[in-house]
Formats: sequence, structure tokens, C-alpha cells
Amino acid sequence: MPYIDPHIHMVSRTTDDYARMAQAGCVAITEPAFWAGYDRSSPKGFYDYFRQLTEYEPARAAQFNIKHHCWLCINPKEAEDPGFAREVMTLIPEFLDRPNVLGIGEIGLNKNSRNELAIFEEHLGLAQQLDQLILIHTPHLEDKLKGTKLIIDAIKRNPKLDPGRILIDHVEEHTAKLVLDNGFWAGMTLYPDTKCTPQRAADIIEMYGTERLWINSAGDWGISDPLSVPKCRVEMKRRGHTEETIETISYRNPLTFLSQSSKFSTHG
Ligand SMILES: [Zn+2]
Repeated sequence: MPYIDPHIHMVSRTTDDYARMAQAGCVAITEPAFWAGYDRSSPKGFYDYFRQLTEYEPARAAQFNIKHHCWLCINPKEAEDPGFAREVMTLIPEFLDRPNVLGIGEIGLNKNSRNELAIFEEHLGLAQQLDQLILIHTPHLEDKLKGTKLIIDAIKRNPKLDPGRILIDHVEEHTAKLVLDNGFWAGMTLYPDTKCTPQRAADIIEMYGTERLWINSAGDWGISDPLSVPKCRVEMKRRGHTEETIETISYRNPLTFLSQSSKFSTHG
């Protein structure tokens, strides 16, 4: 059964990971722009990163018949310096027409600071103006619920934004319902041991169903697992979920949301 991993940072993964993902059934991925593990020293660093996401990664993925797509932004962690963030944002429009760019992401909040919120709202404005899909990062651990509420309030201040074109990621037991009840799509990020494990994701699916919900690995340079989507499928199967439910969460739902961009595709 094919699957889509709609949130994975392949620039920090090896080519072997692409090979293993393809063997496990991965046909397409989407890669949000993200913190590199260190702060970039100039906006030019982002220019190179956006080229990496739109030129080199699609070619690397294509060797394994995986369609690579990406999202562009300055991540919340580096948005703490608004002047720097705005300079990076001026680079984004020229990349949005590239064939694998789906929209703006992953924007959002990290520490729920005032500067992060200001830059988040400016990204929302840019996405709305240019009619782009949006992928949103929510803070981890004790900041998550507050951050999710701040994010939803900020989106509501811009009534032209359509919740059906926005995915709020890293939801957990205490935020999934809030996101879904407000009409957004919700993503569950699977981590090997901490945060949302494949087992907890299966619990959340059992609590809230599969409508507008997807799973992803968010694999990056930290402790993470690029095969966590297929591992969650195994866990769901073990619990007796139907093939249809498993396909909905790991393939159909990402396909439906992402296909709102005509640039999304699962085959080459
Ligand atoms: Zn991410």
C-alpha cells in the first residue's frame, strides 16, 4: 500500500533513508522549511536553503521514484529577529512559482513570543495574498496548548483565510479536537519515544476518527525516524483497524489536502 509522508526534513537525512522509505511504500513527501540546527548568519543562507529545497532535494528523491515537494518560510525559531525575518521573507515570492513548492510553512510559534507572533501573522498575510496553502508548526510540550490557541486566534483575525487550506501540525491528545473543531486539517508528528509515538497516534485516531487528520514523521537531524509512518500503519493493523482506515490516514487524507495545490503529485 503506498503512503505519503507530508512532513519530513530530508535535507538532514541520508540518501539511504530515501531508499528505505521507497521500499516501505513512500511515493511522495513534502518538506517544510525549518531550522537547520544552528542560526544562519545571513538571509543569503536562506536563499541557498530554498535552492536546496527546490533544486537538489527533488532530484535526490526522484532517484527512488519519490515525488518531493516543499514549503517555504522563515521558521519561528529564527523569526525572533523581525528585521532579519522580514529580509528572508522578501526572498520567498520568487521561489513560489517553482514546480515543487506547495505553499508557506512551517510557520507558527516556538516559544510563543511576541516577535514570533508578529512574523507568523505576516506569513499568513503573504500566503493569503498569494493564495498559498499553509502548514503550521505548534510548540512542543507545555507551550503547545497556549501556542495552538494563539495560532488559531491569529488566523481568525484574517477572515480571508480558509481553514480548509491550512494544516496545523504536531497536534496531540489535548489539541487535536481544538484544531479539528475549528475546521482546520490536523497533523500528528510521530517520534520514536517522546511526544506523539505511533501508539499515541493510534489512540488519537480512535478518539477523534480520521476526518482531516494525517500522520507524518517530521524526520530531521534530531532523534527521529523516517519510517515512522509505515510503523504507525503496522501498529494500527495490529489493533485491528481496517485497510481503509489505514489508507485514509497515511495516503488519502494527505492526497486530498495537498491536491488543493495543482503542483502536488504522487508519481513522476
Ligand atoms: Zn518540521
